[in-house]
Amino acid sequence: MENSEVLVELVDVTKNFGSTKVLKGINLQIKSNEFVTLLGPSGCGKTTTLRIIGGFEYPTTGKVIFEGKDITDLPPYQRSTNTVFQSYALFPHMDVFDNIAFGLYIDKKAVSLPYPETDLTFFEKLKAKRFNAKLEKYNNQTREPASIKDMEAKARKIVQEKHSSLSQAKQEELYNSILTSIKEEEKKWVESKPARPFTKAEIKTKVESVIKLVNLTGMEHRNVSHLSGGQRQRVAIARAIVLRPKMLLLDESLSALDLKLRKEMQYELKELQKSTGITFVFVTHDQEEALTMSDKIVVMKDGYIEQIGTAEEIYNEPVNRYVANFIGDSNIIKGEIIDPKHVKFAGKTFLVPNIKFAVDQTVDVMLRPEDLDIVYPSKGKLLGVVDSIFFKGVFYEVDVRLSEGSIVTIHTTDYIPVGKDVGISFDTEDITLMEEME
Ligand code: ATP
Repeated sequence: MENSEVLVELVDVTKNFGSTKVLKGINLQIKSNEFVTLLGPSGCGKTTTLRIIGGFEYPTTGKVIFEGKDITDLPPYQRSTNTVFQSYALFPHMDVFDNIAFGLYIDKKAVSLPYPETDLTFFEKLKAKRFNAKLEKYNNQTREPASIKDMEAKARKIVQEKHSSLSQAKQEELYNSILTSIKEEEKKWVESKPARPFTKAEIKTKVESVIKLVNLTGMEHRNVSHLSGGQRQRVAIARAIVLRPKMLLLDESLSALDLKLRKEMQYELKELQKSTGITFVFVTHDQEEALTMSDKIVVMKDGYIEQIGTAEEIYNEPVNRYVANFIGDSNIIKGEIIDPKHVKFAGKTFLVPNIKFAVDQTVDVMLRPEDLDIVYPSKGKLLGVVDSIFFKGVFYEVDVRLSEGSIVTIHTTDYIPVGKDVGISFDTEDITLMEEME
């Protein structure tokens, strides 16, 4: 992954609450313009990870890097992120327009652009001339904000050029104190950039455009307490994206909605992400939600990341039985690598090209129920007896007990009676070999 594309990076992040280790070493890169989902069961640390990105929690150890700068200690309001909380947290006494506009009104340092020439109120006109002149002066200084890497290199150079005769430990101490003062100086310079609030006209344009994006046109002046759950959800999202964060953090944002609305919102959120270009980080324990919306899924377990990949990668090549079971249905059977091209499971040996595991290693073998067919015993790669059959709406879920005792589930459109001897057929490329889990 090219570093220039990385928007946020978590480096060896851990988090303890008292003596409980909630995050145990998270390393994650999120690129610009991605829809990333943190997926895992309740309590695995998804929300804590999201809150660390947003600045609502600080890591116990590790770093948060945003566009190359270390923002580990920055409070939420100084980050280019915005969060949509599960509760929406709207202002009940305000209408839709004012709820969305609120953040734009209160941000007194919202923008470092000259005041526009038209559409100004009387007071805005008074401020405009002075502000525009100040900004022009600042912009005429030819200096770019420094990255953390630039600052580290500068501090290192000073130590090497002027203090190389000192002991290694003293050099390191000096380096750290020089780096701290360079960072402070840089921060002061960046913060000295003149900034002004948005004008009334700018706020109106911005709010109207996001109202259109989230399909709430016509409801601008409706009190939010008279809206449905789905509409309130839209207001919460509009309120967050109107501030144009580089990254939007969504914490189980669809969980309060009923199934039908949740499905609609899943598509709308994905569309919104594409049309705004804002990076979305979404937390959910719902695998289908993750599969529908994400460019990248981060599967978590007990404070660790188990796997990062596209929906397809995670579905087709899960790294272990935990991921395989979390995404989709799966059959997992113990297997053993016989030689670099053969694996043995359920008492039979199968050809699998490009085995990555060592000979004699035991592995978990995964077969997805939809990749299996029930055939005549003479044509089956595995043999067994139908143990149960359930109709699941569009297919039958058939459990077959294999001759060596394990149960394999098959999704099929054929009805097969319980007790019948059957064969199970599949393509060898549908065999997935995974690291064995304890
Ligand atoms: P859920 O889907 O239920 O929200 P999650 O995967 O988002 O779960 P977290 O909310 O990150 O999990 O919580 C991880 C663990 O940390 C849980 O055991 C939780 O009880 C604990 N935890 C979270 N916040 C705190 C806190 N402020 N103080 C103490 N423990 C906390």
